[in-house]
Amino acid sequence: MGLVVNGISVSRGIAIGKAHLLKRNELEITRHIVPKLLINEEITRFKVALKKARRQLIAIRDRIPKHTPADIAGFINAHLLMLEDAVLTEAPAVIIREKQCNAEWALKTQCETLVNVFEEMNDPYLRTRQDDINYVVDRILRNLMDANDYPAGRKHHEFKMRIVIAEDISPAEILIMYHDGVAGLVTRYGGPNSHTAILARSLGIPAVVGVPHIQDFILMNEMVVLDGKRGMIMALPMPVELSFYRGQQREEKRRLQVLKGLKELPSRTRDGVTVQLMANVEIPEDIPIIKKVAAAGIGLYRTEMLFLNCKEPPGEEEQFQNYRKIVQAMKGAPVTIRTLDLGGDKPLQESQRRYVAMTNPAMGLRAIRSCLKEPEIFIAQIRAILRSSAYGQVRMMIPMLSTLQELRQVLSLVEEQKKRLRNQRKSFDENMKIGGMIEIPAAAMTAYAFAKRLDFLSLGTNDLIQYSLAVDRLDEEVNYLYDPLHPAILKLIRMTIVAGQKAGIPVAMCGEMAGDARYTRLLLGMGLREFSAYPATLLEIKSIINASQVTTLEKHTKKILRAETQEDIITMVETLNAL
Ligand code: PEP
Ligand code: MG
Repeated sequence: MGLVVNGISVSRGIAIGKAHLLKRNELEITRHIVPKLLINEEITRFKVALKKARRQLIAIRDRIPKHTPADIAGFINAHLLMLEDAVLTEAPAVIIREKQCNAEWALKTQCETLVNVFEEMNDPYLRTRQDDINYVVDRILRNLMDANDYPAGRKHHEFKMRIVIAEDISPAEILIMYHDGVAGLVTRYGGPNSHTAILARSLGIPAVVGVPHIQDFILMNEMVVLDGKRGMIMALPMPVELSFYRGQQREEKRRLQVLKGLKELPSRTRDGVTVQLMANVEIPEDIPIIKKVAAAGIGLYRTEMLFLNCKEPPGEEEQFQNYRKIVQAMKGAPVTIRTLDLGGDKPLQESQRRYVAMTNPAMGLRAIRSCLKEPEIFIAQIRAILRSSAYGQVRMMIPMLSTLQELRQVLSLVEEQKKRLRNQRKSFDENMKIGGMIEIPAAAMTAYAFAKRLDFLSLGTNDLIQYSLAVDRLDEEVNYLYDPLHPAILKLIRMTIVAGQKAGIPVAMCGEMAGDARYTRLLLGMGLREFSAYPATLLEIKSIINASQVTTLEKHTKKILRAETQEDIITMVETLNAL
C-alpha cells in the first residue's frame, strides 16, 4: 500500500498526478548602511519595487477567468489595497531615511512590527490578515532583490496536472496554478476557512490542508493520489490502488454530468413537497453562477462586502445602485438583502478592529447592534434597500437579533424611512418583506415571538453553532467541537422551524449547514423547506431532495431528535442518507 497521510478536507474531488514540491528560496536579508547622499536613490528603488508588485498583481487579476467567483478577485484587490497603504508605502521610506539603511531591511523591519501587533491581538481574523501582509511584503522584497517567487520564475505550464505540495500558497499563486491546469493542492498550514481552502473550493481544485510535515513525506515527481473529500494524500500508490482511484475519478465526473441535467427540474420530493433552493451571494458578479444552477432566488446577500476593502463606507446612492443591479438581474425572483453584519470578525475600521480584538469580538458590537448604535449608516442602508424594492421582489433581513426591543427599533426606523420616501416621492414596495436571522440561541428559543412580528426567519447556523457551543468559528484550536449534529443544535433548529410553522411564515436556513449534502435529508425531515447555500452545491442538494420521501424522513427524524449523543446521531443520519 502507498504511504498515506491525512489532513483537513477543504475541497472535494480526486486528483492523481506527479508531486510538485514548492520550496520557497528563503530570502536572506542583511542590513547595509546607505550613505546620506544615496538615501533618495534608495527610496526610489523601494518605490519602483512597489510599483512592480502592483503591476504584477494587476496582471494576475486580469487573467482571472470571467466565470470564476468574484471573491477570488477580492483577494487580489485586498493585496492591491495594501500596496497603497501608508504602513507599507510610507513607513519603510521613513525607516530608510531615519536609519540610513537599505530598502530590504527597512521593509523587513516594518513587516515585523506589523506582524507583532497582529500577533499580540491573538485574533483569528487578524491572523489571516497577517498572512496577507507576509504575501505582499514577500512580493516587494523579491522585486527588490530580483528574486522571483516560484510561480513567477517558472517554466510554462509548470503546474499542469501536478499536485502541488507546499507550506502555504498565496491567492495569487493559486490563480497562476489554476491557469496552468493544476490537479490538486496540499498545504501544511491552513484550516477550512483559510484562503487556500476558500479559493480551492471556488475554483473546483481538490485540496487538503493542515497536513503536518507533508514536504518531508513526498518527493518531487513522485506519483500522488489526493482525495479531497476524505482529506487523504497517498504517495506511491500500488497499481491496484491507482486503478481504484481512477475509477472514483470517473465516477465523480459522471456525477457532475448527471447533476447538470437537474438544472431545469423543479426541486420537489418524491411525495410532492416543493423546496426552495436559494443562493448565497456576496457581490453582483456572482449572479451568472446563480443562473447556471437555476437557483430560485437569493436567500442571503451579504452586504458587508460592499463596506470592506474600501476607504469610505458607501452611501445611500451607491448602495441603491448596487442593490438595484442585483434585483434587476434576478428578474422578479426573491432577493434577500441582509443588513450590515459588520463588527466581530468583520470590523469596519482599523480603530474598531483594535477595540474588538481586545474584548470579545463575536459577542460585542456586531451586526444589528452596531447598526442601531450608528443609525446614520443603517438608515442609508434601509433607504437603499427600500428603494431597490421598487425593481423586484426584495426582502430585508436583519442579522444577530437577540431581543424584541432590537426588532421594534428596526421596524420603527423602517416605518420612518418609508414615510420620508413617500414624502420625497421616491418609489418602493409598500409590502416589502422583513425577516430576521436566527443565529443566537436566545433568539431560537424565543423564535415564536420573532415569528409573530416578522415575515420570515432564516437560520444562520454558522453563528448559531458558534454561540450555542461556545466555539469560535474561526479558531483552529477548537474547531473539532464545532458540530452541526450536536443534539442542542438540532433542538434549536427544530424549535425555530416549528415557530415559523405556527406563525404561518417561511423558515429558511442560510448557514453552511444548508449547503452540506450530509444534512439535507435530516433538515428536510425536520421540516426545513428553504435552503440557501453557495451556488456550486445547489444541484447536489436538489438531487438529494428529489430522491427523498418526506414522510419517511419525518419518522426517522423524530428519533434523531430524541437521541442524546452525537455518535448516535451520526449513525442515525448515515442510515437516513442511505435510505
Ligand atoms: C450564519 O451565521 O450562519 C450566516 C449565514 O451569517 P455569516 O456567516 O455571514 O455570519
Ligand atoms: Mg451569522
